[in-house]
Amino acid sequence: MAERNEEMKALLLKMKEETLKEIHKTLKTSSDLPSGEPSGDIYDQASSERDRELGLLLNDREREKLRNIDEALLRIAEGEYGICEECGCEIPIGRLRVMPFAHCCVKCKEDLEKMQAQTKRFEEDRVYNEISFGEEEEA
Ligand SMILES: [Zn+2]
Repeated sequence: MAERNEEMKALLLKMKEETLKEIHKTLKTSSDLPSGEPSGDIYDQASSERDRELGLLLNDREREKLRNIDEALLRIAEGEYGICEECGCEIPIGRLRVMPFAHCCVKCKEDLEKMQAQTKRFEEDRVYNEISFGEEEEA
């Protein structure tokens, strides 16, 4: 259990370092844009505008990743990491290596997904019924 956590902690810290590097790279690229001087033709402006938007998008995604990493590191520190939130079993290390942010084991994940799919189907049925009731009232 302790060894497992050590391995995942090392993996998460490495992931965090890489994510931070990625964010810094994005920030550097956008601050390198020429400021003040109106830049060349309209195509240049359009593409730098789009690049900035892409940079913002990437930042959001990277930030979300950082948040997940920090949360996982916190769970390691509290001894809650790698334990299924649903059934309390130990999540296999193989699964954690692939999905370091997993909160539950494969079985519980499947159960949750099945339940979510059922809820979704139920909601779709309800919407469908509401629509058909509406049509009947109109007729
Ligand atoms: Zn479970």
